[in-house]
Amino acid sequence: MFSSVLIANRGEIAVRIIRAARALGMRTIAVYSQADTGALHAEMADEAHEIGPAPAAQSYLSIANILAAARQAKAECIHPGYGFLSENADFAESCAAAGLVFVGPPPAAIRAMGRKDEAKALMQAAGVPVVPGYHGEKQDAAFLKEKAYEIGYPVLIKAVAGGGGRGMRQVTKHGEFAAALEAARREAAAGFGDDRVLLEKYVEAPRHIEVQVLGDAQGNYLHLFERDCSLQRRHQKLIEEAPAPGMSEGLRAAMTRAALKAAEAVGYRGAGTVEFIVDGSAAKGGGLEGAPFYFLEMNTRLQVEHPVSEEITGIDLVAAQFRIAAGESLTFGQKDIAIGGHAVEARIYAEDPERDFLPSSGRIEALELPTGQGLRVECGNCAGDDISPYYDALIAKVVAHGASRGQALDRLAAALRGTLIAGVHTNSAFLAALADDAEFRAGKFDTGLVARRLPGLAAMDEALRHAVAALGAMHLLGREAQARRSTTETIAPAWRQSDGWQLFGAREQTLDVTVDGDPVRIELDWDGGTASVCLDGGRKDWPELEAALIDAGKGVYVVSGGRSSFVARADHGALADAPQEDDASVRAPMHGRVIALAVEPGQAVARGDALCTVEAMKMEHALRAGFAGVVSEVRTAIGDQVSEGDVLVVVRAAGKTA
Ligand code: ADP
Ligand code: ADP
Ligand code: MG
Repeated sequence: MFSSVLIANRGEIAVRIIRAARALGMRTIAVYSQADTGALHAEMADEAHEIGPAPAAQSYLSIANILAAARQAKAECIHPGYGFLSENADFAESCAAAGLVFVGPPPAAIRAMGRKDEAKALMQAAGVPVVPGYHGEKQDAAFLKEKAYEIGYPVLIKAVAGGGGRGMRQVTKHGEFAAALEAARREAAAGFGDDRVLLEKYVEAPRHIEVQVLGDAQGNYLHLFERDCSLQRRHQKLIEEAPAPGMSEGLRAAMTRAALKAAEAVGYRGAGTVEFIVDGSAAKGGGLEGAPFYFLEMNTRLQVEHPVSEEITGIDLVAAQFRIAAGESLTFGQKDIAIGGHAVEARIYAEDPERDFLPSSGRIEALELPTGQGLRVECGNCAGDDISPYYDALIAKVVAHGASRGQALDRLAAALRGTLIAGVHTNSAFLAALADDAEFRAGKFDTGLVARRLPGLAAMDEALRHAVAALGAMHLLGREAQARRSTTETIAPAWRQSDGWQLFGAREQTLDVTVDGDPVRIELDWDGGTASVCLDGGRKDWPELEAALIDAGKGVYVVSGGRSSFVARADHGALADAPQEDDASVRAPMHGRVIALAVEPGQAVARGDALCTVEAMKMEHALRAGFAGVVSEVRTAIGDQVSEGDVLVVVRAAGKTA
């Protein structure tokens, strides 16, 4: 075994790898960018080396800087984690050239699976079923349009160099093909520096099912069964589980056989994942028996969702990666691996489900992750960390294991609701609702489920908003001008005895607060025995709400059910984020690139109209008008690289003159 490892990554995955390496007796070496000074992974490792400024291109993606750190630290091997350089064959080669072992597959295997068109051709030749479509060299628009017609709509246009769900466009009508092709090419060129595409038949009722494989240097191949990752938003995974609901023995045997064939065809070594799409529409009786499946791509690295396979098999995949890289043969055979129970993982991102999942950067004011039976949490952050706009906004993964799928999902949903993160918005409450969705629970779902459920799942209902407003308001009333404090209390009846109300003395109180910037007027009324609250004109009983309150100077975070809301006095400058009355500078929410511009100076816009689109962190964000008015300035152009806070468009309210 190696005596030391440099982990060329950050966040939860770096923490995870450090843990496994330490258990194997290795000296652990972390690298960090200037934005990650003091980050958990750097603190945890035996030593940590700075590798450059915040932008990934100058730090976590800089082969030269990482190799320099490895030389300085005298590392024996490098683990790339996932993302960043993990699927970069040049990096794997540079490691070898520098005398370091790359903990991953041979560069040739990375290259063979690097482009989707070439990988598909290779798999076809190896007898692995691929999605019907066109993946040849010819790229002219008229030809591709003809091919799409032959394949039959709906079709999916995919960037051959794509990844992370980007560079994909679904087309349902022949007349829309040209525009979709242009959009896919634009995204592919911007994201991957390669605008070539392939065409695929869009599989109806698609289930994303992938197979975890391991191959050692002695030529042994085995699989760790399948994972179902069909709960996706914009082709990105949200919740993953193992085994796949509805999986039959026959289909499992066929899919795992195909995955091993794929791995062998490229001389794979280490841990990898073969992704398939399963046509659920053809399945009979709710199960997947008889459903056709097709190769999508192979990810030549560890995956974000690897823990669910570990939980059902008891195999530590990172330890296996190290053993294989060190030349040891696998100590277990296929017959030793069995499925034990059910595991499910949810990815907690710093993003705001109520604002179209806009990434939420800022400081984490509080962070308490659940513990409990069957729970495993992978987290790369601590309270006090800044979520920077430079990297993927994944804060933590919650993994729940249970004897049955229902038990695992119950544990997951409860854990997500018990997650306390304040300071940034997260998708925890949204994920909990998703984990409890009836169709998902029944195993009747496909990759379209999240989109179908989105309006209901993402919204904060009015009753909850009112309860949050009332609880936040009570806290603001009751607190003295004091230092930060944190308490957990049940609003009623415990609060009634608290001295907050008494402090104020008054029996009736009107208070204007904002909940995440939205104004709410509250009238509190205390009649000696019961309290009630009057919101938006209607009197309500005092709301029952279990919540944690995190005092934060200007206001208070009310965290309930995994959802964090910021409540502030409306007269205390809490409207700072809200659009100004007569003039609004629409700013870039983060560093990114302008990929679409919908307005020009002089154009009238209605509240909610899209003004321009910024792409950042694998996502597109539409920036919208906060109120009706006229565009007075456009300060950006398509293709511009913009920084967080840059003014892109200025809108003047209707009725005002310049
Ligand atoms: P999967 O989710 O199937 O493992 P993805 O292609 O979505 O595969 O990406 C894997 C992970 O790599 C992401 O969840 C993310 O954390 C990381 N990642 C991907 N692209 C980037 C990037 N540009 N910068 C930082 N991390 C990235
Ligand atoms: P990426 O490299 O971005 O991960 P994939 O080819 O793995 O790209 O596809 C990502 C997701 O897009 C899949 O998990 C699936 O939800 C959807 N998808 C891909 N190909 C198809 C298809 N032919 N039909 C239906 N959905 C598809
Ligand atoms: Mg994929």
